Amino acid sequence: MSAPLTVADDRVVLFHYVLKDEAGEVLDASGEHAMVYLHGHHNIVPGLEKQLTGKAVGDELTAVVPPEEAYGTFDEEAYQKVPRKEMPKDLDLQVGMPLHFRASDGRIATLFVTDIKGAWVTVTSNHPLAGKTLTFDVAITGIREATPDELTHGHAHGPDGHHHHH
Ligand code: ZN
Repeated sequence: MSAPLTVADDRVVLFHYVLKDEAGEVLDASGEHAMVYLHGHHNIVPGLEKQLTGKAVGDELTAVVPPEEAYGTFDEEAYQKVPRKEMPKDLDLQVGMPLHFRASDGRIATLFVTDIKGAWVTVTSNHPLAGKTLTFDVAITGIREATPDELTHGHAHGPDGHHHHH
């Protein structure tokens, strides 16, 4: 028997989690199915990825992740009003929704809608969880080597590597 796999780069990891803020309020949790991700490819917040490294199936841990290693610090200045008519007409704008666009330097940037009033939409580069220290209660339920396809794509293709979402 070979040694059990531990969490490392280019491995697919399955885990259940409960995410809480500083006040202990539950923000999110895995449901019936475990979260599946490809380790070492920036598919989960960096602070959590770091703290999962080296863990094994059956391990449980509480990872406390500061904003700098989660969704960034909060920037009060990072709000702007954009005319509604500059947004795509077929877009069903909702408060909290992310808008992805190509910035002038070619990178894909994300803004979040925080307010919609009349002809104006307020957007911010602050992620809804920016500035928050996050606590993840994690239980690792599976680890396997990634498939060549997953490594090419840079993400996991479901628990068994066969699902494809795009
Ligand atoms: Zn893919």
